[in-house]
Amino acid sequence: MKLGIVGLPNVGKSTLFNSLTKAGAESANYPFCTIDPNVGIVTVPDERLDKLTEMYNSKKTTPAVIEFVDIAGLVKGASKGEGLGNQFLANIREVDAIVHVVRCFENTNIIHVDGSIDPLRDIETINLELVFSDIEILDRRRSKLIRVARNDKSAAKELDLVERIIAHLEGGNLAASFATDDEDEIAFMSEYNLLTNKPVIYAANVSEDDLADDGASNEGVQKVRAYAKENGSEVFVISAEIEQEISELDDDEKQMFLEDLGIKESGLDKLIKASYSLLGLISFLTSGEDETRAWTIKEGTKAPQAAGKIHTDFEKGFIKAEVVSYDDLMNCGTYAAAREKGLIRLEGKDYVVNDGDIILFRFNV
Ligand code: GDP
Repeated sequence: MKLGIVGLPNVGKSTLFNSLTKAGAESANYPFCTIDPNVGIVTVPDERLDKLTEMYNSKKTTPAVIEFVDIAGLVKGASKGEGLGNQFLANIREVDAIVHVVRCFENTNIIHVDGSIDPLRDIETINLELVFSDIEILDRRRSKLIRVARNDKSAAKELDLVERIIAHLEGGNLAASFATDDEDEIAFMSEYNLLTNKPVIYAANVSEDDLADDGASNEGVQKVRAYAKENGSEVFVISAEIEQEISELDDDEKQMFLEDLGIKESGLDKLIKASYSLLGLISFLTSGEDETRAWTIKEGTKAPQAAGKIHTDFEKGFIKAEVVSYDDLMNCGTYAAAREKGLIRLEGKDYVVNDGDIILFRFNV
């Protein structure tokens, strides 16, 4: 599962990417961090792990991770091949979700490709390239379908769908806002892997002064919020530059620095958590003397498949899952107390695992 960071040149993508991977590289020793300079493994902040590590006196703590890809070089005309455009669009097609960085900070020393700060125009410039690229894909599909649709009912149905999506995109809309309840159509659509159908988070990159009120007094940020709301996306206000500074600090220094800025949590941490849930991912937890660990699963995963994340034998020999929610455990103070109150549940193979479930699997070997 990976996220692509996109945006026009000079909006702060690399700065954001560097602070993301720096923070990740420091808090965990993942050996893949530097294989590809554009791909970073980032740890997902989760204070539950710290609390559990303390409770169990665990020797080791292992957080969940997600992958970010820095997709630089997207410019106006990319869909027509400008500036290696097609290459970058192909990179976006491979990610599961998008973080779209938008420049909301003023700085006359840093040139904007279009000469002025206008976040909404920037978003539309990028999204238009994505829309063009999607239309091109659909046009190719349409040509194929036209040849066979006369004698093939399914092809005729698909052709109708393709033409409706093209009309929707040509109307200046994103594929994500194309509505259909038809199961076949939904299946076709997911096959096309359209760029404008991917989940998006907008990261509004502001100057330090705009952090304390979360961008409320920045007109550009407000416009981004309105746009995102219309398109069912979330907005996070960050300062990539500040995050880069924060990523060089240790935990105590970081806390002090944040207090000085008048904020509770770094924008980057919020962004990483939101990215994780944008991908439809949740964590279940295991905790003991040896290790406290977050395990990543898709929302809706059942207990045996969750067990399989730890070891394939756990899935094959699955008997039961002993489950307590994080909140219940914390409220009780100890595992024994939670058991006395009947809050430790024995769940079977149809149990759908929740975020924050602390699980002990019972299995046959
Ligand atoms: P990219 O082309 O989108 O990857 O942009 P960069 O990350 O290389 O940033 C372009 C320039 O803007 C660099 O000189 C950064 O130091 C600067 N920059 C990035 N983020 C911020 C920010 O939040 N505030 C200010 N003032 N400058 C920033």
